[in-house]
Amino acid sequence: MSLIVMKFGGTSVESAEAMHRVRDIIRNSPGASTCVVLSACSGITNQLLRTGKVAAEGNAEEAAGIVRAIITRHTGIMEELLPPEKRTEVQAAIDVWSRELLALVRGISILGELTHRSLDILASYGERLSTLIFEAYLRHDGTPSVLVDARTFMITNAQFTRAIPDLVATAERLQQIVRPLLISGKVVVTQGFIGSTPTGITTTIGRGGSDHSAALVGALLDAGEIQIWTDVDGILTADPSIIKNARRIRIMSFREASELAYFGARVLHPETILPAIEKNIPVLVLNSRRPSSPGTRIVARPDTAQHCTVKSVAYKENISLISIVSTRMFMAHGFLENIFDVFHKYRTVVHTVATSDVSVSVTVNDVSHLAEILEELRQFSTVTVDSGKAIVCVVGDNLRNSIGVAARILLPLSRLNVNINMISQGASEINLSFVIDESNVPTAVQALHAEFFDNGNVDPEIFD
Ligand code: ADP
Ligand code: ASP
Ligand code: MG
Repeated sequence: MSLIVMKFGGTSVESAEAMHRVRDIIRNSPGASTCVVLSACSGITNQLLRTGKVAAEGNAEEAAGIVRAIITRHTGIMEELLPPEKRTEVQAAIDVWSRELLALVRGISILGELTHRSLDILASYGERLSTLIFEAYLRHDGTPSVLVDARTFMITNAQFTRAIPDLVATAERLQQIVRPLLISGKVVVTQGFIGSTPTGITTTIGRGGSDHSAALVGALLDAGEIQIWTDVDGILTADPSIIKNARRIRIMSFREASELAYFGARVLHPETILPAIEKNIPVLVLNSRRPSSPGTRIVARPDTAQHCTVKSVAYKENISLISIVSTRMFMAHGFLENIFDVFHKYRTVVHTVATSDVSVSVTVNDVSHLAEILEELRQFSTVTVDSGKAIVCVVGDNLRNSIGVAARILLPLSRLNVNINMISQGASEINLSFVIDESNVPTAVQALHAEFFDNGNVDPEIFD
């Protein structure tokens, strides 16, 4: 087999024990060459970002305390993995970074200002620490490996905290820097999530972005497979924190997976799989705690597509429903255009839309510019906003052609007295979503999961 890109998320590298498991998984990998992309240890990115916030609020000592806790945790992991005589190099790097972090938070507290650029440099230490320790462990344990700083090849624009990778520059650098190391037989260990501008300023590509990093590396190096290792058995029929008996989906299409990710299933980052789709590279979602479980295989066109079943139920909370009614008698020419111009102007993503003759309902998650948006919309319409809503979404290939799915969704919800504020079926034909009160999410998801997955008719070719 050719190159395998393996990405391990935060929980998969959260402790020395977790890193042992990752080592075993890499050792047992059948790939001719392996590129390993790691996240920060679980919780560390949040802690690093918090140091910045706390420091900017003037609490320099508290921020320094968090830095020290972060360093202590990594030192502990390192000491469990490396014998004393092999710690020198890693210990030296940890010491330098500890001083850098302390200086950074001190600087932020003096300035009293926290820029996105500072947030990115702070966050980058998470992935740099996890990969530093893991690669040293792997090498000293006998696997020929090399640590490559992702900032040498993941070239992005300067949109800090949400930087966009430059595919041409990144592809070039990967060929120059990473390809020869893979050819020499080394396991390349690198960071997800972080990158750099062409002039060398550290960036990050958005929260949860390591999946995207792995997919990009895989696509640009023509990998045979991209593996996303996490803490659940694969993509499940619903969020396991709400549905304890959620089933593993054995195989699904790229379109279904990205739709699910978009509608809140945190297991995959939305744009993750786009680079893989374009290159037709299969993506596997696997459990690092149970590597023997076959996981979920995401492919361009699964053989099972014609079964057109509902695959999963997802939800997204913190949604505001905005209802916009034209103040003219009939929907004036350009009404929709005017509405979307306003959202575009404030770079606010609209998730779902439903329209009637003279009114339009949209949902948004980002309310940072809501006041300005409302002011502009009110110049040509009457607007009401309902917050505290959630979108629940049922996903499955070819849903629109399956008769009776809408009834199977609406009937159980009406029996449970769950009020539906808006319904929308995407043109993609693979999702049917509706807006309800946030407080009704568990009830609605449980009812729909029971309806579609708790009976005997579940297709064993698709579900566990
Ligand atoms: P990682 O740190 O490995 O990137 P994440 O926390 O980002 O892991 O994603 C995995 C988590 O996604 C799971 O632990 C699970 O709680 C959550 N999740 C939400 N919806 C789903 C779903 N439909 N299938 C699987 N996991 C889901
Ligand atoms: N560590 C980063 C985050 O927590 C990226 C990732 O884990 O994918 O957002
Ligand atoms: Mg993730």
